Amino acid sequence: MATGYVGRFAPSPTGALHAGSVAAALASWLDARAHGGQWLVRIEDVDAARCVPGADRVILQQLAALGLHPDAAPLRQSTRGDAYQAALDRLIEAGLAYPCACSRSDILAALAERDALPRRHEELVYPGTCRSGLNGRPARAWRFRLPQDASVDWHDRRLGAQRQDVATRVGDFVLKRADGQWAYQIAVVVDDADQGVTDVVRGVDLADNTPRQLLLMRALGLPAPRWLHTPLVLGENGEKLSKQNGAQPVDTARPLDVLNAAAAALGLPAQAGTPPQAMAAWVGQWRDLYNLSAS
Ligand code: GLU
Repeated sequence: MATGYVGRFAPSPTGALHAGSVAAALASWLDARAHGGQWLVRIEDVDAARCVPGADRVILQQLAALGLHPDAAPLRQSTRGDAYQAALDRLIEAGLAYPCACSRSDILAALAERDALPRRHEELVYPGTCRSGLNGRPARAWRFRLPQDASVDWHDRRLGAQRQDVATRVGDFVLKRADGQWAYQIAVVVDDADQGVTDVVRGVDLADNTPRQLLLMRALGLPAPRWLHTPLVLGENGEKLSKQNGAQPVDTARPLDVLNAAAAALGLPAQAGTPPQAMAAWVGQWRDLYNLSAS
């Protein structure tokens, strides 16, 4: 049944899927199925330096082995430069993006001068050095000009009411980097809009980016999706599983085990039987968990 719902799983091809990324894939798939909607896969290969050759193919094979089949051919961000440039051009024309000459050490020096150096794990808040011009220095990157009031209130379907002041959290953020690469924020916003994504379902580690994405959507006149940020799979050390901290690829020769582990992280009970039977049961349980009526 077509309901207008469009969801997506958007892996960065920096390696094979591990238990954490499978949980994000399963969550977005279950939410799409629970809504009777479409489920898309987008390969976020925008940051060429971080991509591992062949990882996109491995990810798509792993998804297929788990029975997670996208409803359309996967979109690759590496083919979308023109769309991102068109969005940046619109922002520049509207005075909402400006060139920046600052290197990381320039930013650190400016923050040190104001006694505003970040504490451990804090983001570097851009001090706005190039907001009113480059002062003769060469442009390196493009930044988004935050509105006067950059405090964003938004709703998460699991976490409820959320608020972030983007000005004090990150400041004017990068859209196009000094090395010419597109930043995640603009790529994801342009792609979600062009693909008609109505619902973003992803790990809670990305929730922090949502206010930036909402501000960009508003500036570009794009409709905002609904948001659902799911629990993360934690490693033995209690930290989020990630490729950086050595998470192992899942073994899709045992699909039910992999799916059961992902389901457990999402708060769903273990299932026996075949993977399709397990998935059907979880779709119903997902509807209960998130108060969705059967569609
Ligand atoms: N590509 C991002 C990642 O793998 C996910 C982007 C998103 O879901 O918005 O972390």
